Amino acid sequence: MSIRAYDVVIVGSGAAGLTAAIHLAQDKKVLVLAKGALDGGSTAWAQGGIAAVLDAGDSFERHIEDTMVAGCGLNDRATVEFVVSGAPAAIERLAELGVPFNEAEQFGERWHLTREGGHSHRRIVHVDDATGAAVQKALVKAARENPNITLMADMVAIDLITSRHCIRYSGDGHVWGVYAFNRSTGHVDAFTARATILATGGAGRAYLFSTAPRGATGDGIAMAWRAGCRVSNMEMNQFHPTCLYDLEVKNFLITEAVRGEGGRLKLPPGVPGGGKRFMDRFDKRGELAPRDIVARAIDHEIKRLGLDYVHLDISHKTPEFIMEHFPTIHARLLDLGIDITKDPIPVVPAQHYTCGGVIIDLDGRTDLPGLYAAGEVTESGLHGANRLASNSLLECFVFGEAAARNIRAHWEDLSPPPPIRPWDESRVTDSDEEVIVTHNWKEIRRFMWDYVGIVRTTKRLERAKRRVELLSQEVDEYYGNFRVTPDLIELRNLVEVARLVIRSALARKESRGLHCTLDYPEVLAEAKDTVLTP
Ligand SMILES: Cc1cc2nc3c(=O)[nH]c(=O)nc-3n(C[C@H](O)[C@H](O)[C@H](O)COP(=O)(O)OP(=O)(O)OC[C@H]3O[C@@H](n4cnc5c(N)ncnc54)[C@H](O)[C@@H]3O)c2cc1C
Repeated sequence: MSIRAYDVVIVGSGAAGLTAAIHLAQDKKVLVLAKGALDGGSTAWAQGGIAAVLDAGDSFERHIEDTMVAGCGLNDRATVEFVVSGAPAAIERLAELGVPFNEAEQFGERWHLTREGGHSHRRIVHVDDATGAAVQKALVKAARENPNITLMADMVAIDLITSRHCIRYSGDGHVWGVYAFNRSTGHVDAFTARATILATGGAGRAYLFSTAPRGATGDGIAMAWRAGCRVSNMEMNQFHPTCLYDLEVKNFLITEAVRGEGGRLKLPPGVPGGGKRFMDRFDKRGELAPRDIVARAIDHEIKRLGLDYVHLDISHKTPEFIMEHFPTIHARLLDLGIDITKDPIPVVPAQHYTCGGVIIDLDGRTDLPGLYAAGEVTESGLHGANRLASNSLLECFVFGEAAARNIRAHWEDLSPPPPIRPWDESRVTDSDEEVIVTHNWKEIRRFMWDYVGIVRTTKRLERAKRRVELLSQEVDEYYGNFRVTPDLIELRNLVEVARLVIRSALARKESRGLHCTLDYPEVLAEAKDTVLTP
């Protein structure tokens, strides 16, 4: 096993990790790890854009207010102010790095701004409908060109290096880097540093259907929790109403524009009311009701009738109209045997964003000395009980920079890493039963979907709790006996994250924002974070 030292180790090469790296690299040697390709996180998948007050008629106060309304009273106002006021400068820096934001068509304005649900003004800067890909490309380019930044793909971080991994145990909880599985050698390496930043993204893959990429398994949340950090509001998972129901392709988003252009949600044939629309029973706006209402209505019908999916049907429009408006969806679904000019699309809601996470302060500091975090892995207080569209990339830029600033300003206070113990592979053997890993992966995602989804009950949550405890014991045993593999590392983290979500959901005795339970339908007078302490 090799042990390599850097000034700062960053786990994650998305918007949060690379922003931090670029700011730190002014005078620090930085290592950035990604568990697959450098652009394998959610950042590259973001479509809509980034929220920022850039129009003369808009104001910070309105952006703050919109964020607080979406967050249903659970946001931290100081954090919201901090992020919103940092947005214009963050956009400026991205433009300097070469992100080709769409320009305004009107004279006197710089960027073209769109408006999204929940925003009271046009304030979303974007690069067509593929903003994330353009941001990711510009950040990777800037990082590659910086001699102080080392980028390593295919390195799966396993655990944080804490004082218990040191040769002389110092017991102060300090974090000095990570152990990571090197996919190309099949062995575990150690990377030490004075400061470590977790920028590992969300945990969408704890659910059967998620719009997030394959690697969104909550690794940073689980690593931080195991090392001793508190986490908060893990029950707050945002769901997108319409994702294709296909057990192979589990993350193909059917844009809300399909409903916007007249798409009808119907029950599938063979059940009472089959072939008929159902949204008007839930909201007078029908299919055009807000995201969370549509997602809950679909979930309700699926659970009530024991369905796998409902139908989204746009086939009453002409084939020309459909192909002109939705060429990508039409082509993709045709490949899967669905002709949307004739057939309805089977859809389910899908997990879309992890609002909860590792608790950080305005400097990106976690509970442990030397450990920072930024982006979707965190609970900074920005989103509260529900995320306002296009605020999440923004959070990555503001907190990536904040963490870097704090590390540079307090460099002398961060203690250098002491000698550490290498990763011990002598006790373990190769697994002869990989099927346990694949089976448990599927099982977690299935019961999280069925019992800890959009609409919850205490009974369903208790059911999920019993299952996750059993899986947790099984995975711990397996992890203790066999050599680590990327799938096993992720499974161990998924189980941990699932436990945190279930515990948090059981702890919240009200329905607020994204947490909706039939047993406690009211909103309590006082808004409180669900904080879990290891
Ligand atoms: C389909 C979709 C559309 C979206 N659209 C928008 C939008 O329009 N606007 C918006 O603001 N937000 C949007 N979001 C949300 C936004 O994209 C994410 O919140 C944001 O990109 C998260 O960035 P991040 O840097 O925190 O993590 P990510 O970009 O997810 O990066 C995570 C990084 O961590 C690495 N990593 C994870 N675990 C490990 C490990 N164990 N070891 C080593 N490396 C690891 C990954 O390899 C990756 O490099 C969207 C999300 C999705 C899924």
